[in-house]
Amino acid sequence: MNLVMDLPRIFAIRESGHRIHNPLTAAKFAALGESLRLAPGTRVLDLASGSGEMLCTWARDLGFTGTGVDISTLFTEQARARAAELGVADRVEFIHGDAAGHVADQPVDLAACVGATWIGGGVAGTIELLDRSLRPGGLMLIGEPYWRQPPPDEETAQACQATSIADFRELPDLIGRFQDLGYDVVEMMLSDQDSWDRYTAAQWLSMRRWLDQNPDDELAPEVREKLTTEPARYARYGREYLSWGVFALMKR
Ligand code: SAH
Repeated sequence: MNLVMDLPRIFAIRESGHRIHNPLTAAKFAALGESLRLAPGTRVLDLASGSGEMLCTWARDLGFTGTGVDISTLFTEQARARAAELGVADRVEFIHGDAAGHVADQPVDLAACVGATWIGGGVAGTIELLDRSLRPGGLMLIGEPYWRQPPPDEETAQACQATSIADFRELPDLIGRFQDLGYDVVEMMLSDQDSWDRYTAAQWLSMRRWLDQNPDDELAPEVREKLTTEPARYARYGREYLSWGVFALMKR
């Protein structure tokens, strides 16, 4: 049996116009890369690399090399095209596949999972997974949501696309969790409401254009419903209660 893995189509429709599939802007990603103070030639493994913007721009601007793994065929193709466009195709490689359980052949200097900690069954499991690819003394990057302010009830949490309040913590508690797992938090780059808008509001135009071009697609009713309900729901809930950050960790 030929099991073709891919990300559900709805994500590709919503995020077809995104280079960065998370609430950081290009400027925030650039500042994060610089903040790590790593030398040219730094080897990176990026699990759930999306359209490859982090690896490709860091290869161009900072001289890093590395590999990204992502389950989306569309995003992986976009990542390869972006590497060629930025002239770094000799320094970065993108593999289409399941990142769960993926371990690098050679230990890397920087191991990242930016916005997909479900691949390791949560934060702790993802840290363990990344650690298996990391050289001693290397840096780890984890991208994870946190509550910007505590949701007053479970309904609010669910309106933020969480299954429950317990899915996420507030920022000081998330930092404490990394520390409890035996890591120093040595840097972080946080989203703000404007950068959340770049991630979320940018999906609305993608959905509208897709609807105009694909009115008879089987997903059209679902996309129409999302385009109608999500902007106000995001303004009321996600934008107010949820935030997100990338945390740089070093094992103690
Ligand atoms: N790190 C990227 C993408 C974050 S979005 C960025 O910041 O832009 C989450 C990504 O996880 C998507 O690209 C999705 O295709 C990918 N993904 C989801 N499940 C996966 C899995 N099991 N293995 C690899 N990639 C996965």
